[in-house]
Amino acid sequence: MKKLSMSLILILTVVVFLAAVSAYKDNVKSETSTYIGTYKLDKGKPYLLEGKNQYLLLLAPPEALDSLGIHFAEGDELTIRGAITQGAILVTNIQRGEESFTLRADDLSINNYDECSSVKVTPAKCIGCRLCVPNCPVGAISMVKGKAVIDSVKCVSCNICIDGNGKFRGCPVRAISK
Ligand code: SF4
Ligand code: SF4
Repeated sequence: MKKLSMSLILILTVVVFLAAVSAYKDNVKSETSTYIGTYKLDKGKPYLLEGKNQYLLLLAPPEALDSLGIHFAEGDELTIRGAITQGAILVTNIQRGEESFTLRADDLSINNYDECSSVKVTPAKCIGCRLCVPNCPVGAISMVKGKAVIDSVKCVSCNICIDGNGKFRGCPVRAISK
């Protein structure tokens, strides 16, 4: 009986692990493509306008952009390499004229900066509604003991979990801040 319970626990652990891996892969497709367009800021969020398409750019925490010397102005012509996730581009490389900036590895496995995001959840305020989890475009939010927790290395400080993205209104009880 004890052996059967142990086997069941092992099988359940493997199933949960595989589901988590699959959910992350569904969230961020690791194939990168190239997008060419102009840089635009809208309500503080960075976008790339490519013809009729407009993509939110998932870059990196502001401190990381500063450390890499990345500062764009509206109208800059950019060639962006990145992976599409929830209609936004998780950026791996940016070219502006002769300049080239690499934010993360092409397979998204590692960041090219050390700075972590300061976006955080206040556990006492979090009501565990889970709304933020599927709306994070990079899968940086998980639930631990009924409260949302942000992986500060994975988080790109896009602020969707705080103030939304047009479809999701952001945390309903303002439990997330930066
Ligand atoms: S949306 Fe807000 S309240 Fe809901 S789980 Fe996320 S942090 Fe907690
Ligand atoms: S700011 Fe929020 S939604 Fe954006 S990457 Fe970080 S945890 Fe995810």
